[in-house]
Parts: sequence; structure tokens; C-alpha cells
Amino acid sequence: MACKFISNENTNQWLEALAKDHVVFVPVDDGGTVTFRPFGEGRKLVLDRMPVRSAKEAVFPQSETLLTYKYDKDPENPERTSVRIRETLPKERAVVFGARPCGTRGMAVFDKVFDNDRIRDPYYATRREHTMFVTLACTKVESTCFCHEVGSGPADTSCSDVLLTPVQGGYAAEAVTECGEKMLEASFFADGGDKCAEAEAVKKATREMLGEAHDFSDAPEKLLAAFDDDEFWEEQAAGCLSCGACTYLCPTCYCFNITDEATGTTGKRVRSWDTCMSFQYTLEGSGHNPRSTKAKRLKNRVNHKFSYFPESYEKYIACCGCGRCIKSCPASVDIRAIVKAAQARGAEKESK
Ligand code: SF4
Ligand code: SF4
Ligand code: SF4
Repeated sequence: MACKFISNENTNQWLEALAKDHVVFVPVDDGGTVTFRPFGEGRKLVLDRMPVRSAKEAVFPQSETLLTYKYDKDPENPERTSVRIRETLPKERAVVFGARPCGTRGMAVFDKVFDNDRIRDPYYATRREHTMFVTLACTKVESTCFCHEVGSGPADTSCSDVLLTPVQGGYAAEAVTECGEKMLEASFFADGGDKCAEAEAVKKATREMLGEAHDFSDAPEKLLAAFDDDEFWEEQAAGCLSCGACTYLCPTCYCFNITDEATGTTGKRVRSWDTCMSFQYTLEGSGHNPRSTKAKRLKNRVNHKFSYFPESYEKYIACCGCGRCIKSCPASVDIRAIVKAAQARGAEKESK
């Protein structure tokens, strides 16, 4: 990877230049919450804190119109109607600047689900193709960070086009993709020189702050063994409020609902985020609900990320270890502690 340098002052100018023909999502303080908003006049970047909301909204918006439709009556035969459908594929080009490596890596889960050999979701795939990721390597870690335990790390380049590492006076910049290489050709970048060695030292120091990694490799097997242990799951879910914050903030959660919103003869089909932590999520038309208790719903969330997904996608854990769900949970439910408890339960049973 080529290594370049961009000063703090030039970074702002670079963003201004990019914003001329892209929507540039940057982390800003919005009412006390660090979240991604389009770069613009008066918006102060917050780069020293992990954004509370992940950047997944750039490729998977909270709510998006999939199509609009209009019914027309046949003037010759009013009993007959035809429908005109207009697609609403996203057109804008975007850059996500300043996401943490774990958050950007979350996109790998989306890629596997929404753009694979069998299924290509045109809305997701178009946005993904038109969005570049300039990711910021971490220089400090939080007690909730566990990226290193799920195959990622504080300088992970997965799904990024460019990785920036904070160094004296600015950032060392590495291109990860061809697209990223082109971005670094901009005149705002200088040769990396000794900044690259400084960046490597920064990365090493941050990785060391995380300490040794717990081994989650037998989690699918141990979670499966705990599947029918209702007592175990009731205990894990005791404090859960079914608020869904963990899933809405998660960079890898992709559940959605589709609704038609109609007025008279016109309407639109809208896709919006949904959450498997809600009672209504699996409520069937008959009134039966296969996940009627919060224990069953929490079991599904944990198993989906650490068991079902790895089983379906070559052992890939559908959790990037960002810790957002732990940090923002009003009941302090800790997903890594639940998986570790299932592992310990399994080990204990085997030793008997
Ligand atoms: S989980 Fe890892 S990549 Fe994410 S913010 Fe923490 S240290 Fe950085
Ligand atoms: S954030 Fe916590 S309380 Fe809310 S649904 Fe998730 S686990 Fe339950
Ligand atoms: S499950 Fe929690 S730690 Fe894992 S990616 Fe989602 S929010 Fe981050």
C-alpha cells in the first residue's frame, strides 16, 4: 500500500473539494450524539470519539423509498386499472469520512447478505458501489471495544478505500483499493516519508492497548448446545427492555420491514429498519409468535451473529466488535459476556 501524508489543514480543504461532487458523511456532534451528517458549513468534525451511530446509513438508510406507483383507471372501462411503477434507485455519489475500522468492516456482513451469487439488492449494491470509505485508525480504545476478538482490529482496512492514521500534524494515508489510490492522487496529499513509520507505531500501540484476544472459535458449537437451556437465556435476558437500541446502532444489523404508503391512487413502497428485539418482529398473522419472550429474542440476536451467520458464511462472525450495543444498552446487556457464558457453560458440561 502506498503511504502518503495529509496535514490537518489540507484535510479540511480535501473534504471541501470532495463535497463539490459527493455527499461527504462526517462524524459531527448532533445534540450531544456523535453521528454521521453531510459535511457542510458550520459543521465541526468530531474525530476523537467513536460515533454513537455507525456509518451503515450511508449504504443502508434508516428509511428509503424503493419505488413509487400510480393506479390509472382505463377511461374505456373504469372497472379496469393499470399501475405505473417508477424505480427510485439512488444516484448520488458519497464518501464516508472518519468511521472507525470496526464500523467500516461491518459492511462486509452487508456485502455477504445483499450482494452475493444468488441475490443482488439493487438499492444496496448501487449505494455501495457509489460510496467510498475513508476510515480513521484508532489511537485509543474503550472498555467496550473487542474488535480484535472477532477477526478485526483498530487499524483494520476491510471495506475501506483509504485508511488514515493520526500522526504529528495530520494523517498518514494508505490506499487500500484502486479507488483509494485515485483519491490519494489529489494535490492535498504529500509523500508519506517518515510519517509511515510513525503510523505503524501508532497502530501497534493501539493494538497493544486491547490486550490478548479471547478465542470465540467454538462459540457456534457452544451456543447451539445452550439452545434449549431456557434458564440460561432467561438469566441473560433478565434486564433487557426490548428497546432495540442495540440493533439500530449495530453496524452489522440489517433487518428491515417493507410497507406501502398510499394516498388515493398514488403511493410509495418504503423499506425501513426493523429490529428482531421487538415483540412484533416475528408476530404472525395468526397471532402466534415464535419468539414471544425477550429471552427468545435475545437468543436469536446473539446466535445470529455468533452462530447462524458463521455457519452460513464461512465462519464469518456477524459482529465487528465495536461494542456499541454494550455501551448504549440501558440494561448493560453485554453480548460478548453472553457468548463467553455459553462457552463456559459448554466447557463445564463437557468436563462432567
Ligand atoms: S472496536 Fe476496535 S476499531 Fe472499533 S473503535 Fe474500538 S479499537 Fe477502534
Ligand atoms: S439495547 Fe439492551 S435493553 Fe435494549 S433491546 Fe438491546 S439488549 Fe435489550
Ligand atoms: S453486536 Fe454489538 S459489538 Fe457486535 S457489531 Fe453489533 S453493536 Fe457492535
